[in-house]
Amino acid sequence: MSIRENIEAIRQTLPQDRSVTLVAVSKYYPVEALMTAYESAGQRVFGENRVQELRAKYEVAPKDIEWHLIGQLQRNKVKYIAPFIHTIHSVDSESLLEEIDKRAGQAEGRTAPPRVLLQIHIAQEETKSGLSPEEFLDLIASKPWLKYKNVEFAGMMTMATNTDDEAQIRSEFKQVSDLMKEVQAKADELELPGTFKELSMGMSHDYNIALEYGATIIRVGSKIFSE
Ligand SMILES: *Cc1c(COP(=O)(O)O)cnc(C)c1O
Repeated sequence: MSIRENIEAIRQTLPQDRSVTLVAVSKYYPVEALMTAYESAGQRVFGENRVQELRAKYEVAPKDIEWHLIGQLQRNKVKYIAPFIHTIHSVDSESLLEEIDKRAGQAEGRTAPPRVLLQIHIAQEETKSGLSPEEFLDLIASKPWLKYKNVEFAGMMTMATNTDDEAQIRSEFKQVSDLMKEVQAKADELELPGTFKELSMGMSHDYNIALEYGATIIRVGSKIFSE
């Protein structure tokens, strides 16, 4: 199957009753592969997990691409993407939020603020970063949107454990989906921005499950570029 056929096959499985964003994860693949997706399938949303690679591809790719950073972000690298990044999926501390807000405030030529997703750590692997549910709820309770005005609080992101145990994956997506519901139920009290509604969850092997739990953004790499 070609890159175009892979993208079209995924689009066909997306729910009809709501809008889901497919992020084509082009990490590990050259810019030529990304351009094939761009030209043959009209794909405009791409995700990268490293700042340097994202920046290099941004320089040479068409400017109407919506860039998503999905990997861990260090504070000292925020400045390299602040002028153009569309969505940062990996916000896992207030200090990172503070830096993104600062750099976005200084960036010239942006037409809209960068969107941030708070990354939640539910998976069993020690290596996956993110806020624990408790840390997430503490941050939310502090109403960070009242303080950081140069970013758009767009929702949450998670990665499930890399396992064949479907019950485990389901339980993790459900926990994050339940956290979103818990926060939205307190929207008035929290002065929650109306933009806080995205659930970024699901990769090549588990996006179909994530969609059942309300994912609004799926991040798919190998199923597009390597199969
Ligand atoms: C690599 C990556 C993906 C895509 O993974 P595939 O299994 O290739 O679809 C999605 N999300 C994150 C955070 C990643 O690092």
